[in-house]
Amino acid sequence: MTILAEVKDLRAYYVTNAYGVERTVRAVDGVSLGIRENEVFGIAGESGCGKSTLMKALLGTVTPPLAIVGGSVTYCIDGRMVDVPSLSEHERRGLQWQVVSYIPQGSMHVLNPVRRVRDTFHDFIQAHRRLGTRAIDGVVRDYLGSLGLPESVLSAFPHQLSGGMRQRVTIALATILSPRLILADEPTTALDVVVQREILKEIARLRDELGFAVIFITHDLPLLLEISDRIAVMRR
Ligand code: ADP
Ligand code: MG
Repeated sequence: MTILAEVKDLRAYYVTNAYGVERTVRAVDGVSLGIRENEVFGIAGESGCGKSTLMKALLGTVTPPLAIVGGSVTYCIDGRMVDVPSLSEHERRGLQWQVVSYIPQGSMHVLNPVRRVRDTFHDFIQAHRRLGTRAIDGVVRDYLGSLGLPESVLSAFPHQLSGGMRQRVTIALATILSPRLILADEPTTALDVVVQREILKEIARLRDELGFAVIFITHDLPLLLEISDRIAVMRR
């Protein structure tokens, strides 16, 4: 089994200073794990145990008050080792979406509420690929079509879509550049159970088709057992 991402003895702390009182939250304190190519890796754990903080470290989006105070986060891309905390902002942007991408809990975080869905895809692809407007239109239309999304979605604003449809668009955005690892941080807790199952099946289907690995975070343990190849439990 090829290891795609490796976290070793990671320590990521929030250090805040309010009214001269320094406070340290040891959100991630000595976490080690290896993610294999193409696996679904489940993470469970009570609220506040540091799951989302671990995702920030994997994405490289560690900004104050969060700091990595120890350990390492490494990707192995085509035999090349990439040490995440040492990346420049430019390199990190390359890493995000093309190597690792993120499906957040509320899709509104990534869909701009005042932009049509088409424009969000354009902005996004233009930032990562040298493609003209017409070529991008074609790529986006084909990809959304392959996910079974109607073309009308493209001219809609996010608020005009149902919750489930919006989440599908988010999944499309997260996967269109073929990343190797998808981080799904409680991606469906805001949706009803039926939609939740559909979305998870969709992500699993795409995993088989596109060959990415997935880290799933949810506190729905039965669901996690059903969909994961391996499971880790984090504690406070
Ligand atoms: P989870 O995703 O497992 O619910 P988080 O990673 O969001 O946990 O949070 C882990 C811990 O870090 C919690 O105690 C939380 O209160 C704390 N924390 C999260 N974000 C911040 C922040 N910006 N500043 C200070 N503490 C934070
Ligand atoms: Mg969280």
